[in-house]
Amino acid sequence: MNLILLGPPGAGKGTQARMLGEARKLIQLSTGDMLRAAVAAGTEIGKLAKETMEAGKLVSDDVVIGIISERIDEPDCRDGFILDGFPRTVAQAEVLDELLVQKNKTLDAVIEIKVDDERLVKRITGRYTCAKCGEGYHEEFRRPEKDGICDKCAGTEFSRRKDDNEETVRSRLTAYHTQTVPLIGYYGNSGRLKSVDGMLEINSVAKQIEVALTEL
Ligand code: ADP
Ligand code: AMP
Repeated sequence: MNLILLGPPGAGKGTQARMLGEARKLIQLSTGDMLRAAVAAGTEIGKLAKETMEAGKLVSDDVVIGIISERIDEPDCRDGFILDGFPRTVAQAEVLDELLVQKNKTLDAVIEIKVDDERLVKRITGRYTCAKCGEGYHEEFRRPEKDGICDKCAGTEFSRRKDDNEETVRSRLTAYHTQTVPLIGYYGNSGRLKSVDGMLEINSVAKQIEVALTEL
């Protein structure tokens, strides 16, 4: 099964992609994570993307399409993947449709996670991640069971994203509303879209996604 999780920054795409990936043995493909890895490694792509990401703007379609196209050819994607943060423009969605045809793959569903802007600011400014395994946490909404220790890997180092500050969040939300929201119409017209209420707590959102997938 190949899926897209669509939604604004902080909606819970990464959180749900990790849970769903574990439950259904699907690979999570986050273009944001791939770009951050490229920035950290100082690759050509990383150098191109760094400033744009720090400003909360979208990296060029060509760059992200290039990385995702190569990534879905990897053997671990054969049995299914969850796209998290891609596509983010209609141009990316159109190229993705072409790529999937070329690669003889299907897109089974697009799940839209809906969350109000003000809640997103709170979600993003309180977000932090285990530096060892990447598990996501929130200061208020998702604390580790034991303070300072990752539930998944017992790691004790945590990190915050450079772009998770209030000012950059506003630019990221503007980019979402102007460039990504048109995808809701794009996928809605093709009958592949299901929407879930992302304002609910994490496990309730996961349940809605499971129901949406079983309805397919
Ligand atoms: P995205 O990948 O869409 O940017 P994340 O999955 O990283 O969003 O979630 C953003 C922050 O909100 C994280 O700190 C996460 O722990 C928290 N979070 C995710 N889903 C929920 C939810 N349903 N309710 C409360 N907090 C959530
Ligand atoms: P994310 O981790 O999904 O919040 O993405 C972090 C940043 O990476 C975004 O603000 C963009 O600058 C960039 N990015 C991630 N995915 C894409 C994409 N599909 N298209 C353009 N830019 C992206």
